[in-house]
Amino acid sequence: MSKYQAVEWLLGCKLLRVKQDNNKNWQLTVNCNGKQQTWGARFLVDATGRIAKLARCLGIKREQYDRLIALACPFKLQLNHTIANYTYIEAVENGWWYAAVIPGNRLMTVFMTDADLLDKAMLNLDFYQELFSQTHLIGALVKDYLISELNNKITIQTASSSHLRQVFGENWLAVGDAAFAYDPISSYGIASALGGGFYAGNAIADHLLGKREALPAYSFIHEKNYKLYLEMLSNQYQLEKRWSNNLFWKRRHCA
Ligand SMILES: Cc1cc2nc3c(=O)[nH]c(=O)nc-3n(C[C@H](O)[C@H](O)[C@H](O)COP(=O)(O)OP(=O)(O)OC[C@H]3O[C@@H](n4cnc5c(N)ncnc54)[C@H](O)[C@@H]3O)c2cc1C
Repeated sequence: MSKYQAVEWLLGCKLLRVKQDNNKNWQLTVNCNGKQQTWGARFLVDATGRIAKLARCLGIKREQYDRLIALACPFKLQLNHTIANYTYIEAVENGWWYAAVIPGNRLMTVFMTDADLLDKAMLNLDFYQELFSQTHLIGALVKDYLISELNNKITIQTASSSHLRQVFGENWLAVGDAAFAYDPISSYGIASALGGGFYAGNAIADHLLGKREALPAYSFIHEKNYKLYLEMLSNQYQLEKRWSNNLFWKRRHCA
């Protein structure tokens, strides 16, 4: 018998609202494939990524350290062209580029900058591709082999460093990006989310056994790690000195 047999995996369900009764049990309103349902739960885990839907419903604020955003666009590579399977990054005047080969001989390209510094022209695919091709290291590897597909589009998502001001409360806690989100330059988001899941599972089990220190200890470990992460992030950005007068780099050098 599987240890995880009791877990029910519900796809297409979206948390809409939560309410806690006098006994601190939860009532959830969920949209499941277009149908509204009400569920009960003793303990809730917010694993909804940066949206942190549960924490938001509870009115918990987020601490933001920067305004980093990611503009992403996949391209097809010409059939006969392959590049080594690394994650490539390259600093430019107002941010940095990231590229990685993804299945189907495609290249995911991402431009990172601050939301308020974004040149709106970057949302134009031709302009975006042109700037990408001008990068000295990554662009040189692929610029003559990129194929723009008809359904290519640039998507924007937040990529800032941020965390909830409170990552646990009465019968709930947050994990992964919902709790602590990382700048992609650290490559730390997935490892931290997986590690956080492990600590969260143990903390919840202990909490349900009546150990009052379990959730504060969970929070303490993460806060300590996050302070260390912020120091490492600052050190990483300090390495780039070429555009110290540009606001993007200036902000990071002063952080
Ligand atoms: C551009 C970019 C590049 C990155 N590169 C790297 C990298 O190279 N290495 C690395 O380690 N990390 C990277 N990261 C970070 C990494 O993607 C995240 O840290 C990781 O995905 C966090 O996992 P998570 O499960 O906490 O959240 P997510 O992966 O965001 O998952 C959250 C889930 O919750 C669901 N959800 C949202 N709202 C609701 C709701 N109301 N009800 C129900 N479900 C909901 C979503 O659909 C989603 O499935 C990158 C991030 C960005 C933005």
